[in-house]
Amino acid sequence: MPFIVGLHTDFEEIFGKGKTKFVVSLVGTAVKLDCTQMPSLKAHTDSVSVDTLRRQQLMLSLGNKMKDDNYALNASDWGNILSYSLWDLAPLIYRRYLLLSKSTVSNITLSEKKLLMDNFFPFLNSMNFEDAASVVYADVTTDPYGTAEVIRNCQLFHPAKIVELLHPDNKHLVVSLLGADKPDYTEQDLQQMRQIARFLDNLPDTGHYIEGKESLFGKSGTMLVCERGHTTAVDLGGHCTEMLDHGLGICNLNVKGLTETEVKAIAAFNQKIEILSSLLNK
Ligand SMILES: [Zn+2]
Repeated sequence: MPFIVGLHTDFEEIFGKGKTKFVVSLVGTAVKLDCTQMPSLKAHTDSVSVDTLRRQQLMLSLGNKMKDDNYALNASDWGNILSYSLWDLAPLIYRRYLLLSKSTVSNITLSEKKLLMDNFFPFLNSMNFEDAASVVYADVTTDPYGTAEVIRNCQLFHPAKIVELLHPDNKHLVVSLLGADKPDYTEQDLQQMRQIARFLDNLPDTGHYIEGKESLFGKSGTMLVCERGHTTAVDLGGHCTEMLDHGLGICNLNVKGLTETEVKAIAAFNQKIEILSSLLNK
């Protein structure tokens, strides 16, 4: 419906031929409000649907139940969470997911755990990208492994949030996120991805090279002293070949403290940047 805003009223008397006339002038701007674009106006309706009421009731009751870490969401809870899109519960549900995905909580049965594992990704995927990313990245440094897995599985690669993590202490976390995707890429994403690539390209050395002595190592040449203190003969850029204790395989760190797998992930990421850049500049 149209409105007039900034209304200004003017009265003017006109005399002549023994008569007096009033001229009234109204000046204002006609505007048309689009109520569908204004959720705050839409909320003040004079009726509330039973679905809205039910949604609010469920949000409160499930939110209260989930304050208890031992409460397990059952099949009916999950039915409600998904059909009523109870996204406000996402931080609570996510915390539960991280807890259950890595440990066995005795009070929670396997079937309840399976329900959570089966329903959590569809739930997260039903949220909009920014909201889901806000929930997941909030826990990224407290549980890097669990979070990275969710980010990869739900296409929640978020360059702006990863840029905030760019610190040498977080290099393994950052590299673990490089293989993740997002539903679509913009020029801004690309710029932030280049920033991530530059950070990885300029990581400080955590190990160093020394010149090997023939008598000690059997041959002369470059030796890598990795951040774990192993000394092995490698080519420049090579990876430590020392065996780790407890059957953990070989050390595999290079002078930057990165494994071969991580170096490959960075190369693939750089290639992704090149492809995106040529696609976006068409
Ligand atoms: Zn080593």
